[in-house]
Amino acid sequence: MNVPFLDLRSVNERFRPELDAAAKRVLDSGWYLLGKEDEAFERAFADYCGTAHCIGCANGMDALTLIVRAMGIGPGDEVIVPSSTYIASILAVSANGATPVLVEPSEETLLMDPERVEAAVTSRTKAVMVVHLYGRVTPMARIWDVAERHGLKVIEDCAQAHGACYRGGKAGNLSDAAGFSFYPGKNLGCLGDGGCVTTSDGALAERIRALRNYGSQKKYHNLCKGWNSRLDELQAAFLSAKLPHLDADNAYRRRIAMRYLEGIRNPSVTLPHPPDDPAENVWHIFPILCERRDALQAYLAEQGIQTLIHYPIPPHRQEAYKEWADRSYPISEKIHAQELSLPIGPTLGEEAVGRVIDAINAFR
Ligand SMILES: *Cc1c(COP(=O)(O)O)cnc(C)c1O
Repeated sequence: MNVPFLDLRSVNERFRPELDAAAKRVLDSGWYLLGKEDEAFERAFADYCGTAHCIGCANGMDALTLIVRAMGIGPGDEVIVPSSTYIASILAVSANGATPVLVEPSEETLLMDPERVEAAVTSRTKAVMVVHLYGRVTPMARIWDVAERHGLKVIEDCAQAHGACYRGGKAGNLSDAAGFSFYPGKNLGCLGDGGCVTTSDGALAERIRALRNYGSQKKYHNLCKGWNSRLDELQAAFLSAKLPHLDADNAYRRRIAMRYLEGIRNPSVTLPHPPDDPAENVWHIFPILCERRDALQAYLAEQGIQTLIHYPIPPHRQEAYKEWADRSYPISEKIHAQELSLPIGPTLGEEAVGRVIDAINAFR
């Protein structure tokens, strides 16, 4: 028996009748962009997150880019972002001509360390973008405090945290505006590209609504230089079909994570530190650290267990950011050198989880 990292076909097969019905609805309607399906999903997802507004868009990177643009952040401005993240968070700042300022993670949470944020604030700082990486919510209290004292906006990158909570609030409702991705492999994924912004700021929501549609609110009346970033009706309909199952899928991911946390015993493996409140983590990724990461990955592959690395190269070591090549972010570098993502997902069987645990425990 092979253990795939994530079997997307089986993930979506569970909802085949609902997805078929959704596709039929859109085909029958003859309306493919910015219609009833987009509106219905936006309403449902805003309600799910607890925000006043949700604006569908083409993907997660666009969601973040639109937020930064709508906040009026551009050349000469700085945005604080984690040094350890998927590069899209940082690209969204660069895409607006603003300067990303990298802050190291905490070794315990692997998320941007709130204690290091204030030291990165300058007179040019306009916003702090937290990334709830691997499905875990950044401890927000200290972030809110720093942002308030320095008059900064807070942005959440929720691409890996659909349904995660912090002190009773949902990810997506813990900041001025949040960007979500519905890339197929995310905890809530469509069958193609998709994304959205959640916010309770009505004026910001209006601007983003216009920006995603060529800068127009009324057809052929362009208020600003926008772009084209829409969530199509087909993807919105698929997402509406899948959203009611998100909490159950997240609960199942937590069960797998608990089994890994309790079952894996190997001195060369460091397990993720579980949050005090289980609701804070939806385990998009189950990240372990291992100094002999590449050997462990090869050993697991030999036994048919597929793992991935999130991510092999830190953003400041990417060719795209060669201007940062001489900088050093040792905690990020360590995470990128040692991280290994174990299989996790709503259709990973109990037996497969047991096999992963046994294989890791036997690794020498
Ligand atoms: C997936 C992801 C994105 C980008 O989402 P897309 O829909 O692929 O553009 C941004 N940030 C993080 C942390 C992600 O994991």
